[in-house]
Formats: sequence, C-alpha cells, structure tokens
Amino acid sequence: MTHATQTRSRLALLRTELKVRKLTAFIVPRQDEFQGEYVASYAERLHWLTGFSGSWGLAIVTLSKAAIFVDGRYTIQVRSQIDTRLITPQHLIDEPPAAWIEKTLKKGDRLGFDPWLVTADQAKRYREACEKAGASLVAVDTNLIDAIWDDQPARPTAKIETQPTQFAGRSAADKLKDVQKAIAGHDAVVLTQPDSVAWLLNLRGHDVPFTPVVPAYAIVHAKGRSELFIAPGKLTEDVKAHLKKIAVTKTPAEIGDALKALGKSKAKVLIDPAWTPDRIREVLTKSKAVVATGSDPCTLPKARKNAIEQEGARTAQRRDGVAMTRFLRWLEIEAPKGQLSELDVAAKLLWFRQQTGLLKDLSFETIPASGPNAAIPHYHAAAESNRKLGLNEIFLIDSGGQYQDGTTDITRTVIIGQPTDEMRDRFTRVLKGMINLSRIRFPKGTCGSQLDVLARGALWTAGLDFDHGTGHGVGSYLSVHEGPARINKSDRTPLEPGMILSNEPGFYKQGEYGIRIENLVLVHEPKDVAGGDRPMLGFETLTLCPIDRRLIDTSLMTADELSWLDAYHARVVKEVGDFLEGEELEWLQQACAPISSD
Ligand code: ZN
Ligand code: ZN
Repeated sequence: MTHATQTRSRLALLRTELKVRKLTAFIVPRQDEFQGEYVASYAERLHWLTGFSGSWGLAIVTLSKAAIFVDGRYTIQVRSQIDTRLITPQHLIDEPPAAWIEKTLKKGDRLGFDPWLVTADQAKRYREACEKAGASLVAVDTNLIDAIWDDQPARPTAKIETQPTQFAGRSAADKLKDVQKAIAGHDAVVLTQPDSVAWLLNLRGHDVPFTPVVPAYAIVHAKGRSELFIAPGKLTEDVKAHLKKIAVTKTPAEIGDALKALGKSKAKVLIDPAWTPDRIREVLTKSKAVVATGSDPCTLPKARKNAIEQEGARTAQRRDGVAMTRFLRWLEIEAPKGQLSELDVAAKLLWFRQQTGLLKDLSFETIPASGPNAAIPHYHAAAESNRKLGLNEIFLIDSGGQYQDGTTDITRTVIIGQPTDEMRDRFTRVLKGMINLSRIRFPKGTCGSQLDVLARGALWTAGLDFDHGTGHGVGSYLSVHEGPARINKSDRTPLEPGMILSNEPGFYKQGEYGIRIENLVLVHEPKDVAGGDRPMLGFETLTLCPIDRRLIDTSLMTADELSWLDAYHARVVKEVGDFLEGEELEWLQQACAPISSD
C-alpha cells in the first residue's frame, strides 16, 4: 500500500468512527497522557494517522477536512512526511488550532477529544473556540484512534527501578514532606508529570526511549499517605518495599475514585492546568472538589539539584567527556578517509559511551550532521538523509547520555580537512557567545532572558543570529529538557543555585553548514566576586571536552576570552586526561594545548 492510500484509508476509518460516535470532528495530539517529549509506540497515534513523526504536533480531522498543526521546527519536515492533498499543514503560532476550530466548525458541530491527552488549558481554549463557532467540545470515553488502529502496539511493561539516595541525594520521604509544606493551604495536589513523579518518589522507568520517567500519576495529600497510580506489573519486589513506606499503590483505573473521594470531602485540590489532563480537572470539578490552579510543586525543587546530584553531574560529565574525547580522536583519524556516514559516526559514539560500562541510555537521539545537514538545527539522521562526511566540511554532533548519576547533553562542531575563513569567523563568534555566557556573574533574581544576549552579541555585531533558544534545563538522570528555567529571548524564571542548564549558541547557513557549541553549566554562588554588596551567581561549566582549535580565528577573540578557553582546556586535560593513556592522552594534550601562546 502506498503512503497516500494508507493515509486515505486511515482517514476514512476515522471518519466512519466519527459518524458512529455522533461527532463531526476529532482532535489527535502527538502527546500521550503524560505530555512528554517521547511517547511509547502505542501512543504514536498522530504518526499512525498522518505519517508525521515530530515530537510535537496536533491534527484535527472533520468529516471533510484535515489539518495538522506544527511549530517552526517542523514546517519543512511535515510537508515531506504527510500527504498534503489529504491533510493541510498549519503553523502552530500563525494559525493556532483554536483559531482554525473557530473558522472551520459550524453551528451544531461536535468536536471530540480524548480528555486524557489534552490538558485543562488546551481544552479550555478549544472549548471557547467551539462556543464561538456555535459548536461543542465533547470529551470521549475511549480514544477513536485506538478503536480503529488494528495492530496498535501493546502498552510497555518495563519494570520500574528505584533511584537510590546515593544518587538522588534525598529520600523520597523527605521530598514528600517538602511538597506537603509547599502546598500549604491545599488538601492535596495531583501530580501528572512523569518526571515529577519519578523525582519525588526516587523512581525511574524505562517505557519511553531516552527519558527514564515513571508513567504514573500521584496524589500527594497534605496529611496522610500519598497515592501512586501505576500498572501493578511494573513493580518489582524491591520497588514495592521502597514504596510501602511512602505511598499507597493503586491501579491507573482507580484514580477516578480517588479524585471523587477528594470531591466528597470538599477538598481543596491543586492542579497545574498547563500539564494536567482535562479529565482530571473535570472529575474534580464535577465531584465538587475546590480546584485551585498553580504550578507543579515538584518543578522547582527538581530543577535545584542538591549537593549529591551536583557531584553526580560532575562525575557523569567527566565520564562522558572521556567517551567524547576518545570519539573525537577516532573521528579525526577516520573521517578524512571519506568512508564514514553520519549514522556510522553516531553508532561509533554510542559504542564509546557504552565502553564506560555505566551508560543506561542515550539522553536523546544523536544528531550527527555533516555539511548542509548541520544547517538544520533539529536535524534527524535517517536512512534517506544519511550523508557521508566530506573533506573540508563542517561536522556537527549533538548527543548525550543517561547515567544513573547524571544526564549529559553536548554539542561539538569540528572541521574535516580545512575550514574556510568564513567558517572560522562564524565558529569564533559562536564560541565567543558560549564563553561570555559561561563567564558572567549576575545578581540573584536574574532570569535567562536577561543573559541570552551574551550568547548572541558577537553574532549580532556581524548581522547574524540563530533561531533557537540558547539554553534549556537538564534533569538528573531524567529528562534532557527540563523546566522551569531556560535561557532564551523571553524566559522569566529566575536562575537559582543548583540548576543545570545548557549553553548552546549556534549559527546556521542554509544549504551549506551549521555550527553549535554546547556545554552544560551549573548555577552556583561564585567565591571570586570581591568588594561588592550584592549576592551574585555564576555558572560552573560541567561539560569537559576539547573545542576544535582549528576553527578558531584568535584575532577575533579578546585576551580574556582566550584565557578562559586555555583555562577550560587545561581543566579538560587534568580531569579527562586522568582516564586516558598512550596515544589517546597525547591527542587530548595536543587538542587542548594553550592557544594564546600559538
Ligand atoms: Zn544538545
Ligand atoms: Zn541541549
């Protein structure tokens, strides 16, 4: 069956199902019931229906029309993956789903949605849009796609593991006490984000690739034991013993009764409407609970890594730096021979990480991008696009590992052969941005949007910029993309000690090459600010791996920037070099030789 016939027949099945359910349209989000970046194969409903495989998207199918909404990252990809004669791509920001609903639906239309996959905030927007069109938004009890998807994969059955205090730094009992304190004035909070549940209860799961979150909801009561709603088959004896002391375990189906019980006692219940399934809000409201909205109380304490998590991050970064260094040396020897493809290189890097003996998983799918492929910031190497690494081309590799003591995320850009002057100019401007952000001291209360310019200034001077954020939060053996703080043009969350963020400016020349340099940094209270009267914060660089000196134009660098780079490279030799010997150690020493004495 061709792709087009497949989409056509699946849309036809969905439209038949619409009629059976007395609906005129249905919303198919990419998200599962946990709103994460990665979903298990049973939840790839949007991909099954449309062919689109991006990490965020949403389709709305009516009896005669179909639209798919994607953000700026996916406007090109979506057109190559879907049949645009059957489904119309829409830009998420320029024509958001709510506006499309208002314009497209007619009086009396009934727009169905699965209230477990759509958040309370999203449902509110869709409901208002329906009302304006004279239509109504209807929550369905069973998902329409599940009803028509013949060979839908089964739900994953991977076992949950505990994250011992030796890595987590604090016991689950202590964290629960803190959350109870944080929700003062409420009787309970419903936690629906799987990384919050994983962090709070010191558990990790293996259901989705790259992110060891726990696919479960929890209710933390201000008084009394917490409830965890999880498939019983996922619990080992070890995990049961761990949970016994801190929570009552129930099946996912039992959450309805637990929410109704909160309503019965007129409890004041906190939910985060940006992340909570609309069904949870609805059951609480209908059963007369007092619903209060606020942000998930785990988000901030999870982001502020404790001393043991910070030490774990340093150890994990050093270990990952050893794998990356060995990889870069191998690449420098092999790439000029002209035989390596992007996928070969990604596989070899995975092998080097596996040699550490402690790799649990990658933290996302490696982005190995050569030549013009590197100009696509979210490039995904697949069989169709897989390219050989060419001579005198730039090669960018963005990758990371999941280790039990920390999550890593690193990008290095190297030249295979000889760079052009323009490549060196652009690389140096990106590097200056990375260094200036790394070195800054800033008063407490400063947020990422106030620092973002530091990463861009040298590019702006030359009339250049890059179209992605400069940094994102990173979890501790959790999600590689973690809130609440980010470094970009608009983020308003103050940076706090213990937060781990990425520092990853870039430059992309469409059709030619792309550059990105990414280190992870830890927000700390520096001891070297003398004579002032304000409490200051700064960044400690965690990532340890050489930066390609052949791409640097030192005439563009200030003395301070050069001495930062030399000091960084000296630290890499000291910390990573300890784990290398022979030719690999020699290569590292040469790659990290001081540049200011050249
Ligand atoms: Zn990265
Ligand atoms: Zn990153």
